[in-house]
Amino acid sequence: MTTYGMVIDVSRCTGCYNCFLACRDEHVGNDQRPIAASQPESGHKWIDVLEHERGKLPRVRVDHVPLPCQQCKDASCVSRAPDGAVYRREDGIVIIDPEKAKGHPQIVASCPYRVIHWNAAEQVAQKCTFCAHLLDQGWKEPRCVEACPTEALVFGDLDDPTSRISQLLKSKATEELHPEFGLAPSVRYVRLPKRFVSGEIALADRMSEPAAGVRVTLHDGTKAHDGATDLYGDFAFDELDAGASYRLRIAAPGYRPREIDIGARKDVDLGTIVLEPVSAGTP
Ligand code: SF4
Ligand code: SF4
Repeated sequence: MTTYGMVIDVSRCTGCYNCFLACRDEHVGNDQRPIAASQPESGHKWIDVLEHERGKLPRVRVDHVPLPCQQCKDASCVSRAPDGAVYRREDGIVIIDPEKAKGHPQIVASCPYRVIHWNAAEQVAQKCTFCAHLLDQGWKEPRCVEACPTEALVFGDLDDPTSRISQLLKSKATEELHPEFGLAPSVRYVRLPKRFVSGEIALADRMSEPAAGVRVTLHDGTKAHDGATDLYGDFAFDELDAGASYRLRIAAPGYRPREIDIGARKDVDLGTIVLEPVSAGTP
């Protein structure tokens, strides 16, 4: 048995769009029925690259999250399609039948990931096929994976314990995109963007200089994450669990320490935190 899947490492994605361009190169003007009609010249993103911006200027993080069809095991596009117009192959690839799906625009709305597009000329819904037509000819991976210069996309057989993707799933923490949809996707992600907290430290008696190297510690109740301000006096902690509570402790010799309680329901930028000097004789 073969079950195809993909692991996407967000920390490796540079947002270069090579995957998107390779997808267009493969599918525009290339009719692959019964797997898919050709992709139209414009308007479709069978693999999209979502830009995810966090924080506030000047402390901003930008991540790129590639988004192909997630090839779900419990796909809503399959269960809601009329007359078997969308089906899952034995190798796990979900296919929209270009003939049976004709004239059924409601198929577009059956995917909560929003990866299905409407081809007005062909009157058919379309999406990523994992390049099934190439895999059926013996290719080892879809065009997007082949084109990715950073190996952010890893494709392979989930049923083969020796495959690179199986090894990766064993060695790295992965997660689903939108597990709340409950569709059991065959695409998993490494380092999806999480909450982050940032700020700048200034020293009250040296406001014109950046406070570099000030110790900043984030406590999550069980462990402490150590950090320090950079050359500009900025600090940031990433990959915080949404909804968890944290306590930030800032300490610099000769200055009063500060403690700030933080909720990570959303990204937090604390702005400029000024440390006051401990004057001689002050407790
Ligand atoms: S991501 Fe959407 S289109 Fe793809 S299999 Fe899942 S439900 Fe269907
Ligand atoms: S080709 Fe690779 S690095 Fe470039 S946008 Fe796609 S996944 Fe990201």
